[in-house]
Amino acid sequence: MNRDVGSGSARQDGFPREEVVRLDRVTKEYPGGVAALRGVDLTIERGELVAIVGPSGSGKSTLLHIAGTLDRPSAGSVAIAGHDVAALSDRALSALRARHIGFVFQSFHLVPGISARDNVAEGLLYRGMSRARRRREAAAALERVGLGDRMGHRPHELSGGQKQRVAIARAVVGEPDLLLADEPTGALDSASGQAVLELLHDLGADGATIAVITHDTEIARQLPRQVRIRDGLVVEDTGRGAGVRGAGVRGTMAGGLL
Ligand code: ADP
Ligand code: MG
Repeated sequence: MNRDVGSGSARQDGFPREEVVRLDRVTKEYPGGVAALRGVDLTIERGELVAIVGPSGSGKSTLLHIAGTLDRPSAGSVAIAGHDVAALSDRALSALRARHIGFVFQSFHLVPGISARDNVAEGLLYRGMSRARRRREAAAALERVGLGDRMGHRPHELSGGQKQRVAIARAVVGEPDLLLADEPTGALDSASGQAVLELLHDLGADGATIAVITHDTEIARQLPRQVRIRDGLVVEDTGRGAGVRGAGVRGTMAGGLL
């Protein structure tokens, strides 16, 4: 594991900080001249659970896509686990993303017509595992999100909250270094949304590093660190490192970095 990434300063528990994501002066201009991000500095450390909040159109999804290497910035730099994204080919970037980053979207993005278990197994497609092993791991991930009794159900046979839990299982089955969620509760009723939030909390308590976009201030308040975006800028950040839960808990989901 690359222990040299990050500032090298020690946390109170004596472990060095590790920067899972670091954005420096990131801007993003879309064709047509929209400046979606106008110079964002943001660092997320291993084990943090961070809420990203802000009004519609403020640049939250753009920020998440760039932090997740789905998109490249117009200017500024992005590093994932200490590796400068600009130095990587598209192919190398895809490999990094598949191995190290999990995504959850508001609209679930499940594959219709296949079981919950096969949907989760898709999260391991690029890991060079046998299908049997992928299905075994998928079953364990579904147990972990409380859906052990729905493995054979197809997406249309599941409630919204259950679909999102399948999507989360798919995102974490490969134990990524970073989980990025874009309004994961946005399409859910409040009870299902709360269950999804509690699941993210549990994953965070187990050491996962999570950034979750939400426009629900009630939800954001429950998370240890809040980053507020407005007009493409970070206008408030309750503190780097503040989102690390349970000092001394090492990231159990953190495999070897790169
Ligand atoms: P949020 O997620 O906070 O609602 P977005 O990041 O989706 O905001 O969008 C930020 C701004 O960038 C908005 O003005 C939006 O219209 C614009 N935008 C987002 N995606 C694109 C795109 N693919 N092409 C052009 N403009 C875009
Ligand atoms: Mg958005």
